[in-house]
Amino acid sequence: MKRKGIFYVISAPSGAGKTSICRMILTLFPNLRQSISYTTRGMRSGERDGIDYHFVTRELFAKMVADSAFAEWAEVHGNRYGTACATLEQAIEEGADVLLDIDFQGAEQLRNSSLNGVFIFILPPGMDELRKRLVSRNTDDQKVIARRMDNAAGEIAEAVNFDYLVVNDILDNAVEKVRAIMVAETLRTKRIISTQLKEFGLK
Ligand code: 5GP
Repeated sequence: MKRKGIFYVISAPSGAGKTSICRMILTLFPNLRQSISYTTRGMRSGERDGIDYHFVTRELFAKMVADSAFAEWAEVHGNRYGTACATLEQAIEEGADVLLDIDFQGAEQLRNSSLNGVFIFILPPGMDELRKRLVSRNTDDQKVIARRMDNAAGEIAEAVNFDYLVVNDILDNAVEKVRAIMVAETLRTKRIISTQLKEFGLK
């Protein structure tokens, strides 16, 4: 009997390095897939519909909300983002693990649901380093950086509600820590009890 899939929620303030960590983690676990969210945000250059996101109109998004099609959804920086119930449920039933790169509001909704996920928060090494990273990205103007720094303080306060905290000081070390969390989670007794332990006549 195959075990059920596990879903991992990774949240972080922008500039903490979440995207790089998720990208590297996805290469380490063949049974892990990325959850593709729905969003009302416009497509950026290089992005592809159905691969980076499902890009939808505000009307379609609102209809999906009304139809309870989302396991969680939130407004982030003026756009809406959501994880479809179908995406999560299908993977879990198939025994595939799922990585969700979502904001803390979405993480909170999933934590309060009946779904049993693993919640990981990525922290920058400190506020000075976070500012440096946002400035060195060179993509945002001063006002945007100031707003992101303000938002970051509020987002970091949410870290206490997560199962695990990983400080991203050196990228490879942070990836190794997330990998270790994921390996340990697959070995939790509650997840293996109905599969391997049956071999030994235990329930
Ligand atoms: P971006 O527009 O830069 O791709 O993403 C902006 C933010 O939206 C990121 O913090 C990302 O984690 C978050 N996000 C992406 N997909 C979802 C989702 O399905 N639900 C929630 N709650 N947040 C999401």
